[in-house]
Amino acid sequence: MKRKKIAVALTVLSSVIVFSSFASADTFKKSRNEARYSAWYDSSVSTYGYTSSIDAGRQSWNGISSKVNIGKTTDKTANSTDEVYVGTSKTADLLGQAMPYTVSWPKNFLTPPDLYDWDYSVVSFYHNNISTRNMNTPNLRKHIAAHEFGHALGLAHTTGSNASKSIMKDYSNESETMFEPQTYDKSELKRKYGN
Ligand SMILES: [Zn+2]
Repeated sequence: MKRKKIAVALTVLSSVIVFSSFASADTFKKSRNEARYSAWYDSSVSTYGYTSSIDAGRQSWNGISSKVNIGKTTDKTANSTDEVYVGTSKTADLLGQAMPYTVSWPKNFLTPPDLYDWDYSVVSFYHNNISTRNMNTPNLRKHIAAHEFGHALGLAHTTGSNASKSIMKDYSNESETMFEPQTYDKSELKRKYGN
């Protein structure tokens, strides 16, 4: 519970740091310590009916690099397990977010992804905003999930002329046509973790 409160308090700070520091880079300076890992789904994922969409977005990063694979587990006790939640947000237009944490040092720290390599992320999806923006379809939810797991893997928002061919561009709407990592995203992932 303590960790959750910290997460909420630092969300805005984290966003500011992320969005102000990476205008010219499409990957964060730091990485996930182990990119072959599992994700644990909170019961809210199935309660809101997001299980298959989030499965699809999560699995869309597999098979690109031998160093990257996101599986699924019912045991969230491992230090490297991502935690996935679906809920609501009072922040307008926020569809989802991935917050990276270190475990041992700095101890239980929500780190800016440019500062420390991280052990796991808390990945959240905000059903109220997804519905308001007319994005509550399996494909669009898959798009959002693929985007957030991209952040969890250390990909930043794609900027400049590459944005239009990347699932990591920073704006999505109901006319979105990319539902999984694109060629550019795959090359960025391999640039970070290897083939
Ligand atoms: Zn994003």
